[in-house]
Amino acid sequence: MTVVLDRPDWISATATIRKPRWSVEAPVAPRHGVVHPHAPGLEIVGAHSLVPLAGGGQIEYANLDHGASAPALRVVRDTVDALLERYASVHRGAGWHSKVCTSLYEGARGPVREFVGGRTDDAVIFTKHTTDSFNLLAHCLPARTTVVVFETEHHAALLPWEDRNGINVIRLPAPATPAAAVSAVDEALRTRPAGPALLVITGASNVTGEIWPVTALAAIARARGARVALDAAQLAPHRPFSIEDLGVEYVAVSGHKLYAPYGAGALIGRADWLAQARPYLVGGGATATVTEDVTTWKPLPDRHEAGSPNVPGAVALATACHALAGADRAGLAASEQALTDRLRNGLLDVPGVTVHTLFGGQVETIGVVTFTIAGQSSAVVAAALSAEHGIAVRDGAFCAQPLVRRLLGAAGCDVADGTGHAIRASVGLATTGEHVDRLVDAVESIASRGPRRRYVTVDGRPVPAVEDRELPIIAPWQ
Ligand code: PMP
Repeated sequence: MTVVLDRPDWISATATIRKPRWSVEAPVAPRHGVVHPHAPGLEIVGAHSLVPLAGGGQIEYANLDHGASAPALRVVRDTVDALLERYASVHRGAGWHSKVCTSLYEGARGPVREFVGGRTDDAVIFTKHTTDSFNLLAHCLPARTTVVVFETEHHAALLPWEDRNGINVIRLPAPATPAAAVSAVDEALRTRPAGPALLVITGASNVTGEIWPVTALAAIARARGARVALDAAQLAPHRPFSIEDLGVEYVAVSGHKLYAPYGAGALIGRADWLAQARPYLVGGGATATVTEDVTTWKPLPDRHEAGSPNVPGAVALATACHALAGADRAGLAASEQALTDRLRNGLLDVPGVTVHTLFGGQVETIGVVTFTIAGQSSAVVAAALSAEHGIAVRDGAFCAQPLVRRLLGAAGCDVADGTGHAIRASVGLATTGEHVDRLVDAVESIASRGPRRRYVTVDGRPVPAVEDRELPIIAPWQ
């Protein structure tokens, strides 16, 4: 099918692109994805995949691991496929395909900025993911900046500020309530050493799913002359928000959690610190002039995007942002809430199961639920859920070790692999009620009778003692 696009509508938001006209051979989209009642355009690639069960048979994959990485939206894959038909160098290439790709790459900043409600003068820097975004921001902090961060953060938000010359980190203990979080930040910022300050805060916890009081925290930070960096890795796929309304300066997102798993993320936010810093990576693309004695650097965003950029990744991220922004997000959040309540309440009804929260049900959550089963190894439970029930969850500490240790310690959990290991179920666009019910039934069965099969440890991970599932051949080199 050949579709002539007169200015794809998601390009129109950008200031740099002037009325591009080109033809794109759009692949025919198969119509068998999940059609969500609140997002008919948000079909998921591979939504109805069958997966093998240990001992034989197949079952529809129940993906309850969206919090780690979400599958691709079909519109994302189709757009990247169309781009790949014309993939070429960006920026300096004179060829037609280079012009097409440059226009797409630069145009991709607009939908990402709009998705997070950024101000027109906010920079959009493409990165690899949230981890990369915060490392970039840490690199750009002015000397003598104090960074205030709760120990409950994901390691990506907790650690990049540590051990940097001239940066002072104040790590706050887990607060018992949202109000306690606000007063702890107030106190830390009030008594900080002189100089700039940055509060780093998550929008929604990747462990408990709890939504943090970002607006109140940002107001306190502002009153104390500090800036705020929002870790929106988990919040962004689940809730609409706006940099401007929240009153934060920086936002970090990951494409692979936003249904755009093509290796790109972004740091969006206030330009001044970013514009003054030496390039995050040094090399081609970031340089303006290079002589024998002097190198000068380009302005934003190129300054921090040295090397050939990830064009498919940036275009994928922008396409997902555009698709999500155009969906009924209130409706999506409501149906996700219903699934999350069904999941949490179902698990809470199972004897021996503890569902872990920091704020004890006082705040709204996204669709992430972390739990443990008394006397059971979380790693074995996760392996059994996969091998015996076709259910994907994550086990371990979810790159938030201080928080998971604290939650499990506070709950006095007696899990067979020690405190510090839990199971996380997370819902997303392709989750159905059947997936949730299957998990609750399976957990009930494991909690009362243990896994049906025997598991052994291979390379530190439990696997069925008799593993008869075969990995599919996908790549030609396999
Ligand atoms: N912050 C949060 C809240 C997360 O859930 C994650 C991913 N688990 C990250 C940061 C890091 O994201 P990435 O691995 O994409 O850098």
